[in-house]
Amino acid sequence: MAESCRIHETDLLVIGGGPGGYTAAFKAAGYGIHTTIVDSDSVLGGVCLNRGCIPSKTLLAMAEMIEMSTHARSMGIEFEKPTIHLDQVNAWKDKVITKLNRGLAAMAKRLKVDVICGTATFADSHHVTVTGGEIEKIKFKRVIIAAGSRPVKLKGIQIDSPRVVDSTGALKLERIPESVLVIGGGYIGLELGSVTAGLGSEVTVVEMLDSLIPGCDDDLAKPLTKRLDKMFSQICVETCVTGMKEVDGGVEVSFEGNKIPKRTVFDQVMVAVGRRPNSDQLNLEAIGAEVNDKGFIKVDSCMMTNVPNVYAIGDIVGNPMLAHKAMGEGKVVAQVLAVKKVEFKPACIPAVVFTDPEVAWAGLTETEAAAAGIPVNVQKMQWVASGRAAAVGRTDGLTKVICEPGTGRVLGVGIVGLHAGEMISESCLAIEMGATAADIANTIHPHPTISELISEVADMMMPGGAPVH
Ligand code: FAD
Repeated sequence: MAESCRIHETDLLVIGGGPGGYTAAFKAAGYGIHTTIVDSDSVLGGVCLNRGCIPSKTLLAMAEMIEMSTHARSMGIEFEKPTIHLDQVNAWKDKVITKLNRGLAAMAKRLKVDVICGTATFADSHHVTVTGGEIEKIKFKRVIIAAGSRPVKLKGIQIDSPRVVDSTGALKLERIPESVLVIGGGYIGLELGSVTAGLGSEVTVVEMLDSLIPGCDDDLAKPLTKRLDKMFSQICVETCVTGMKEVDGGVEVSFEGNKIPKRTVFDQVMVAVGRRPNSDQLNLEAIGAEVNDKGFIKVDSCMMTNVPNVYAIGDIVGNPMLAHKAMGEGKVVAQVLAVKKVEFKPACIPAVVFTDPEVAWAGLTETEAAAAGIPVNVQKMQWVASGRAAAVGRTDGLTKVICEPGTGRVLGVGIVGLHAGEMISESCLAIEMGATAADIANTIHPHPTISELISEVADMMMPGGAPVH
């Protein structure tokens, strides 16, 4: 923490210590810029570390372990039904977070980045007012807004019940509810639903749109939907929640749409219907920074707003609201501030759904290509052909490569299956480097791995190409 004084001066202020904010701050400090982070939280890490990516993956790892112990039965190994000590599960999750919080604090100290706890609002384009901490005002030359986003509430439904939680509440895991309704079939809803289903809750998912994981190709979503159909009690697409009221022993929910859930009273309701930017909480009017109709701060490719000394990155500037996009923008803005001519123009930003199986894609999807009328060559392979997938008993996967006709340039890759999220990085590099299907096909991949399937799929795109298996 910065020294106890009421006014603090800095060259660069970063509002928000999440993945965007701390990446930008650490990089800028590395370039020799005197940098300060202000965050309402008492620890660094933002939503991602404290109530998003990391706690959800910690709990998913536990749910995966339970699932693996069941799966082992098909391999001739039987475990007893696990006993879940919720207090110890939460202690372990908190330990993971605290360790990473400490790592960030140590890095800030090493780079001489001042960290101030408090909530900042703009007074003018060179000052913020800070509440909730020891410092009252910060004077800065330049500022990066990395204040992130928060969960959206259900439109038109007012309910104040401890049984109705958002992602932050769900991750606290105070108890294992007997039945859970997850509202929203996007990645956050499905990840949280998988955790509670893994712990033994009866889970129902409702999604307003006609499929789960909006934006994902159907063939990639299919193996996941098939598995979730077994794991969850019901998945109801094209279905909306129209009302909720607290009743004895639960929350009574009313629905409208294509498939009305059998159950209408739930022990817990998890609302995962999206996130909105925190731009409305910063008094941006004081500096005249422009936002779009969805509240995202408008920036150019150098992450600069319409106010010359004000930059913005991360969830607060728009989709995809993902930590790695925020970090990428953080790196770019630090370079821009260090007077380097760079722009944020990635060839792709990967998306991963950390369910079981995982779904990951990068670059152009088949759905996007069809909608935009872009001609593409598509080749795919089911994992039944993979020796490694068979050895681990998980052939429920698919690897798909999308190329530009004529040149063979890789435009997109989609993978569904075990560890798809780890395997997509090779495709990101291929897309970023402008690689062709031939480049991937001619790269020798280790055998037996599931990752080698991508080179086989690429090889099938070559003249005379045929699957090896
Ligand atoms: P944030 O991480 O939101 O950080 C913003 C910070 O600003 C916060 O610490 C906040 O306290 C602070 N702040 C806000 N307003 C003020 C103010 N006025 N003054 C001072 N401080 C302020 N993304 C992935 O890439 N992979 C995942 O697996 C993934 N899983 C997720 C799971 C869940 C359950 C959730 C909710 C999100 C997940 N995300 C994931 C999204 C990811 O968390 C966000 O994209 C990422 O945190 C955005 O980073 P950011 O730096 O823009 O802001």
